[in-house]
Amino acid sequence: MTDLAPKNGAPLLSVDGLSVDYRLKGTSLPAISDVSFELKAGEAVALVGESGSGKTTTAMAIAGLLPPNAAVSAGAVRYRGERLPIEDDAAMRPHRWSETSVVFQGAMNALNPVHRVVRQIAEPCMLKLGLSRDKARAKAMELLELVGIPGDRGAAYPHELSGGMRQRVMIAMALSCNPSIVIGDEPTTALDVITQAQILKLLGELRVRLNLGLILITHDLSVVAEACNRVMIMYAGRIVEEGSVADIFAAPRHPYTQLLIASIADPASGNRAIQSIPGDPPNLQTRPSGCAFHPRCPSVMDICAAAIPDFERTERGCVACHLHSHVQPLAKVSAHARRY
Ligand code: ATP
Ligand code: SF4
Ligand code: MG
Repeated sequence: MTDLAPKNGAPLLSVDGLSVDYRLKGTSLPAISDVSFELKAGEAVALVGESGSGKTTTAMAIAGLLPPNAAVSAGAVRYRGERLPIEDDAAMRPHRWSETSVVFQGAMNALNPVHRVVRQIAEPCMLKLGLSRDKARAKAMELLELVGIPGDRGAAYPHELSGGMRQRVMIAMALSCNPSIVIGDEPTTALDVITQAQILKLLGELRVRLNLGLILITHDLSVVAEACNRVMIMYAGRIVEEGSVADIFAAPRHPYTQLLIASIADPASGNRAIQSIPGDPPNLQTRPSGCAFHPRCPSVMDICAAAIPDFERTERGCVACHLHSHVQPLAKVSAHARRY
């Protein structure tokens, strides 16, 4: 379904220094800052962070779906090496859904209740791919089978399907224009644990079968371990650590990542305790200076409130933390004194 390799050797997707501001009551406030990463065909990358860290804003910017009060203040998004006009809605139309599609959180509730699901999948095939009604319908049936729904269930109305099946329909719709990249923004959040596991398995199978680049946005690191190759940890609009899932789980380096991993229940090891991270994530108006994690960080140093740490690249991935930078720390201060 997808073209396997970028023709010019460029990555499938590259996000380079992307910054997005929201205008709120006449003031522009940065929601994401200097976000950079690459995605290869067939790769699954997770974007993880607490609520308000900027995950959806990143996804919306990549898909050219930012709301009217948002502005790209720096950076670029490239698809197979070609810069995308992410701020120009009309110019993004040929790219959206046929190159990158998004499955949103709770998307299953966005299905039109008065149309049969097969029609809702066939419509983008007619509009975007120019297929005839019969061909679009046949493709919609194929897509339903692909996501594990018998084609004849396409005659159902959304309310006749379970939540898991409706989310499968949304995934079929996301695949209808043969995209190379699928972004799942919390695609399993509204589902029960068993259905969540089934949908994640489906996304993993589709990624391999169609050689999709998958960006999976989640609050939940246990989802990442199951479904992704690589993980990016986001805090207050910045990526603070990136690496392979194996490396990040075995030896997280950023204190925020360490706390996130410590917060996962691990029944296999007998550790069922879910710890919460002390303090609250900042909102746009209250983002702290320097390293935005400093008011909550158990390893905070004087330099942390004064300077944003560089994103250090090593063979084991990237981390933005003064503990791992070449800058000499000024002095260690008591962790408890700096906590909320
Ligand atoms: P969640 O996990 O809750 O979905 P998120 O990581 O996806 O959070 P975003 O939705 O990208 O976070 O929001 C990042 C920041 O931008 C938050 O502080 C949020 O309140 C703010 N924000 C999001 N959308 C808008 C908007 N349209 N106008 C103003 N501020 C916004
Ligand atoms: Fe903690 Fe400082 Fe590292 Fe930020 S830069 S995570 S405050 S040690
Ligand atoms: Mg979100």
